[in-house]
Amino acid sequence: MAATIMDGKALALRVREEVAAEVAELGEVGLATVLVGDDPASHVYIASKHRAAGEAGMYPRDVRLPADATEGEVLRLVEGLNGDDSVDGILVQLPLPPQIDEARVIRALAPSKDVDGLHPYNAGELYLDRPTFAPATPSGVLELLRAYEVRLSGVSAVVIGRSELVGKPVAMMLLRENATVTMCHSRTADLAEQCRRADVLVAAVGRPGIVTADMVKEGAAVIDVGINRTESGLVGDVAPDAAARAAFITPVPGGVGPMTIAMLLRNTIKAAKFHRGSLAFP
Ligand code: NAP
Repeated sequence: MAATIMDGKALALRVREEVAAEVAELGEVGLATVLVGDDPASHVYIASKHRAAGEAGMYPRDVRLPADATEGEVLRLVEGLNGDDSVDGILVQLPLPPQIDEARVIRALAPSKDVDGLHPYNAGELYLDRPTFAPATPSGVLELLRAYEVRLSGVSAVVIGRSELVGKPVAMMLLRENATVTMCHSRTADLAEQCRRADVLVAAVGRPGIVTADMVKEGAAVIDVGINRTESGLVGDVAPDAAARAAFITPVPGGVGPMTIAMLLRNTIKAAKFHRGSLAFP
């Protein structure tokens, strides 16, 4: 039987409508983005985040620095935004140019404004099982699984990829839902064997077709986080014929991608509540 396609576009629209209603209640909500340099993909991502924030009624602030900006300049900018009362959430678009220590910039963010959930405080709170801001892409993955009522408790979940942005937080969030989680990466000896055991398979690698149909357990839920630009367009990490074996599968594009932006906006609402004191920042 063909898999149910998990429609991230439609779900993201619903989340964004909820966010817009909350913005209307809260009044002004400010999201500042910091873009350093001229990475073309980053420009596209920032543009779509701004469009979505504007459509939800938020005030997006577009802060840009040239590619040769110094670390000191970026740190001073972040400090300014931390203290700016009109800014509820701050997002620093990664990657930063090589002369800038990314970890240092992320550490400089006020944790209560860190809507990407990358500050060690927020990453630590997720690790300690009391999440504040969970990163947007992993939150989108979990929201999709929840919306399609995919069982997580007690099932075997395999995550391919262990990045700070996707793999590690997804694994933590699945663990929180009582899945038995296996994390795979480039040194995993028996990737296909691990995947074949997965009731829930999350691919976050960045290699087209790394997950082939024979690696998918019959009836599994397959979440394809990968975004790969190829000659035939945008493709994920999962081969299309895997849909014949899965019970649920996300398309690329139109799966996790739209959810990422929606969850970023939801995190910004949370930041606005922290800022106003209607929600206590721990
Ligand atoms: P990343 O930082 O490059 O991490 C990739 C991970 O894949 C690493 O942990 C790496 O293992 C692992 N890996 C590489 N080759 C492998 C192999 N042959 N077998 C098993 N694991 C392998 O990438 P990322 O930021 O997590 O992003 C992953 C993908 O998701 C990319 O395509 C990215 O564009 C996409 N993405 C999509 C969204 C969205 O909104 N949909 C958001 C963020 C990212 P090691 O740690 O051992 O090197």
